[in-house]
Amino acid sequence: MDKLIKTISASGYFRAYVLDSTQTVKEAQEKHQTLASSTVALGRTLIATQILAANQKGDSKITVKVIGDSSFGHVISVADTKGHVKGYIQNKGIDIKKTATGEVIVGPLMGNGHFVVITDYGIGKPYTSTTPLITGEIGEDFAYYLTESEQTPSAVGLNVLLDENDQVKVAGGFMLQVLPGAPEEAIARYEKRIQEMPAISSLLASKNHIEALLEAIYGEEAFKRLSEDTLAFQCDCSKERFQNALATLDKKELQAMKDEDHGAEIICQFCGTVYTFNEEELETIINDKS
Ligand SMILES: [Zn+2]
Repeated sequence: MDKLIKTISASGYFRAYVLDSTQTVKEAQEKHQTLASSTVALGRTLIATQILAANQKGDSKITVKVIGDSSFGHVISVADTKGHVKGYIQNKGIDIKKTATGEVIVGPLMGNGHFVVITDYGIGKPYTSTTPLITGEIGEDFAYYLTESEQTPSAVGLNVLLDENDQVKVAGGFMLQVLPGAPEEAIARYEKRIQEMPAISSLLASKNHIEALLEAIYGEEAFKRLSEDTLAFQCDCSKERFQNALATLDKKELQAMKDEDHGAEIICQFCGTVYTFNEEELETIINDKS
């Protein structure tokens, strides 16, 4: 079971989230049949969305859109405050690796563009905030968003490791934030530790990456675990929802679906579930419109 652990330094000036998102990204890969680079880009976006959603309360929803101008197209994911996230990548068939190391390439395939965060508090009028992509690697773009848009100095590390068959082996990451009033020398101490921290991929590769991440973030400093929440890839689509969407179409269009196509098939872009509507069901929708 995936989890997100919230912690705070004993001093109260630093807080960190650490995550295991392995099952979430595995599920996303299975549902969308993504190839290596697409898997990593989608996975990193899902992790960033999980972190942002963990910051929300009540019935809020967070949508992250990473909109690039290169091969991937856009990556979109949505998370609620109960640990559920769903998402997809526009071009799921990208698989480009460095010849020498086999490292999966992400940034250049995202290109230039924007990191868009939409917060929906469930009371209408969602709040949208946009920052430019810095490297297209998503982790850095996300850290820049947090620092610029939310005015909270933040360090982020997130990644997806694949096995030799390009299947998800481990996924996760961390977010460290400086809280108001933190003394300069303490900030310098944390900064130094983050700079000297082993690469996020090697931390994720360790046996218990949650503990490895916490140790890398806090070093010898005392901290408290505040909570542990479960995370999962879960889509909220349903036949009823798509039926309502069909009902918004023109009567003529619906009639054509019935008479010419003898039914309709809708695929949820977030999870790949296929919903079919036969002629009778279309007839009911048409009749309900009048
Ligand atoms: Zn769905």
